[in-house]
Parts: sequence; structure tokens; C-alpha cells
Amino acid sequence: MSEAPLLCWVRRGHRPSCSSAGSVVGVALVTLGGAAVLLNAYADRLRRWAEGGGGGGARLRPEPEGGAEGAVATLHFPEDGAVLGLTAEGLALARAAGVREVGEGAPDRVEGARRAPEEVHLAVTERCPVACTGCYLSAGPDREGADPNDIFDELERLAALGVAEVAFGGGEALLRADLLALGQRARALGMVPNLTTSGFGLGPAEAAALAPVFGQINVSIDGIGPIYRAVRGWGGSSLGLQAIAALAAAGARVGVNTVMSGPLLATDGALEALGRAIAGAGALEWQWLRFKPAGRGAGAWAALAPAPDLLDQLWPRLLQAEAALGLVMRWDCALLPFLVDHAVEPAALSALGVRGCTGGADLWARDAAGGWGPCSFAGGGPTAGDALGHRWAADPRLRAWRGRAAAPPAPCDSCAIQSACRGGCRVVAGALLGDELAPDPECPRVRRAAGV
Ligand code: SF4
Ligand code: SF4
Repeated sequence: MSEAPLLCWVRRGHRPSCSSAGSVVGVALVTLGGAAVLLNAYADRLRRWAEGGGGGGARLRPEPEGGAEGAVATLHFPEDGAVLGLTAEGLALARAAGVREVGEGAPDRVEGARRAPEEVHLAVTERCPVACTGCYLSAGPDREGADPNDIFDELERLAALGVAEVAFGGGEALLRADLLALGQRARALGMVPNLTTSGFGLGPAEAAALAPVFGQINVSIDGIGPIYRAVRGWGGSSLGLQAIAALAAAGARVGVNTVMSGPLLATDGALEALGRAIAGAGALEWQWLRFKPAGRGAGAWAALAPAPDLLDQLWPRLLQAEAALGLVMRWDCALLPFLVDHAVEPAALSALGVRGCTGGADLWARDAAGGWGPCSFAGGGPTAGDALGHRWAADPRLRAWRGRAAAPPAPCDSCAIQSACRGGCRVVAGALLGDELAPDPECPRVRRAAGV
């Protein structure tokens, strides 16, 4: 008789990006066979961990049945960020190993979402030494920093909810003198702090201080030389590459965030040159992000958004990049619709934890003014009100997003990959159509349904 499965799904890697959920993909894995191999490997890891007495800082958060995409608990390993969605058998094994349970401050049940977010993005300032053309927060040198005490207090509340990872971003988070202290506080509370930076002001000394504290640090680079300048309005690619090299030399786990802009995708060889440069500088991961019409990005949309055919061809380019560079590739939550024409197995995506729009489902974001929103692109709501756990459960906007993902309108309702895609990007729909619950107008299938 075969053993009962221990896992429903696995999600690998830290959550470094303040700008998207980010999903690790892999050429060999986005098939049902590949996903089964991975699930077996992580089930073996779980058994070995349990046989060894558990521990290692792993944290278990029970979920009401089905609350975590069919799993009855999530188990987070802070050393590499892996989250395992456990079956009842997996939960029994983890409990027998004496694992630390978290989430005492979370609601018992949240309709259409986990009891609390798995990851939270914290914009710790809107201030930035530069003012990139398409910045989704409209950050710049004249903007405000956030109240430091508020963020320390918020970390306590998030730990009580059982949040696994927090991502610090901005603005330029490195402008905060207490950034290291924030990261250390998150660690002391049992969460993994991650960081996104432009690399501005990040030399060897800063890298040596950050490396032991942060689980992963992602440097944002949107092209090399003139492409970077065309997209961001200033020349920062050398600075970003130097920051990657400094972080890698200091032993940090380093990734790169790249926004998929028109200039980058339409210029022959530009994407490939960027990939070679970041791999050469020592990056381990490369996260591709969809350009979103948020903040200054809304005004820059006509100039910087890629043409639809460039987005439609992005997936084969990612697979080529992965094969050529050996980097771990991430495909952001907003890019899931661009898998619809590429014969990927939705069940394989789900087993690998590759999910579209997780805003309000297992992701939450706090802006620099203290407002909470479903994701960091979506803007925050009012700051006053109930306890954080109650707001996670009851916030009307979060509930609307969850309801929309569970029962989307046409054409998402008949889409083969809806369970993984979750209906496209709400931020893009909101900005381009004036209704954030409308179908994502850039999705190839939505475009076909609309005759575009
Ligand atoms: S709206 Fe959803 S898909 Fe778009 S960036 Fe936010 S979480 Fe991702
Ligand atoms: S039709 Fe909807 S669910 Fe399907 S890929 Fe497009 S946005 Fe995603």
C-alpha cells in the first residue's frame, strides 16, 4: 500500500521583492512529472527533518481545511524560505517532531485566503536619491520617510499573525539609518527579512553589514547602459552591478528585479546582455516583473509598456535565459496570464507554488504612510481601525479581490489556467479600465475574447 502524501504543494525561495510575490520557475519542473519529483524531494526533506527532531527555526501555521490551497498547514523553513503546504499526514509528522506553531494572533478562518499573509511587503520610505521615470510609488528625494516606531510596532503584530517573510522596500530602503535594526528585529521575532534596493549607496561595508541579516537582497536593474537610462531616466546600471558584486562577495543571497519594459524587450540583445551582466556580477536569481501603470508608471505607460506581442513571447525567452545563464528564474504574479498560450500544466504550477495575483490571499503590503493594500502596487487604505488580524479578514477591498479570484467573470471563468493565474493583475485592470475587478486587458485570452 502506498504511503499517504505529506505535501500538497511546495513554494521555494525567499520573498525578496517589495514589488511582487515572485514565483520560482524551472524548465524541468513546469510539468506534472517535474512537479511530482520536486514534491517527493521535499517530502523526503520533511521526513529527514522530523527524524532529526524538527527544529532549525521552522515554523508551522495551521490553516482550516483547504485554507492554504488544499493544505491544512504551512511549514516555513527560514534558512532557504521554502514553504510546504502540508496534508493532514504532513501536519501530524511536523507536530510529532515538536515544531514551533505560530499564528496565535491570526483569525481562526478567513474566507478565500489564509488565516494571515505568508509574506508582507513594507515600504519603509518614499524617499529615494533618484526619481525613476516609471516608479510605482512615485518615490523621490523630496518624499517623506515613514515613522520608524510604527514599523517596529508593526513587525511585532505581523509576527503574532504568523507571517513568514517580510520584504523591506521603498523608495530606497537603504536611506533609512535603522534598516539594519529593522531587519534584526524581524529576525528576532522569527520572520525572515528580505530587501529590495537600487544599489545606490551600497558598497562593500554596507554589503558586509546587510548580508548576515537579510534572507535575500534583490537589486533592481532594468537594462544595461542606455536601456537603463531610457527606462529609468538616469544611468544606474554600473552602480547596480557593483552592488550585486559587493553583496555576493559579502556572502549575501543576491537576486535582481527587472521590469519588462518596451525598450528592454524590443532592443535586440538587450535582455540577454543584462542577463549575462548580472550573472557575471554574482547574482543567483533573476525576477522578471511586469511593468505596471502605478505611480509614475501610469504617466510613463505609453512610452515604456511593451507591445502585446513582446509579452506573449516572454515565456520562451525566460526558458532560454534559464538554460543559458543557470540563474534561478522568477516570474512575477502579474505575468501569469502570459503563460496561457504556452501549454503549461496548471496543476504543475499549483504544485510548485507558482501563483498569480496573491494580493489579499497570502500577500499584504503596507505603504510608507502606514496604509494597507492587497499588494505593493495597489496603494494603501486608511490606517486607523481594528487589530491587524481582523483587518486582514474583514477589509472590504481584500474580500473583493478574494471573491473575484474565486469566481472570476468571463473569460477567466472558462480558462484552463485560472486556478494558477487567479484572473490576472488587478492593478493593471484598475489603471487601464478604471475597475480593478475587471478582466486583465493585456491577457492574450482576454484580448482575443474582446476581439483585440
Ligand atoms: S494586483 Fe495581483 S497580480 Fe498585480 S502585482 Fe498585485 S498581487 Fe501581483
Ligand atoms: S483568461 Fe483570465 S485566468 Fe486565463 S490567463 Fe487570462 S487573466 Fe488569467
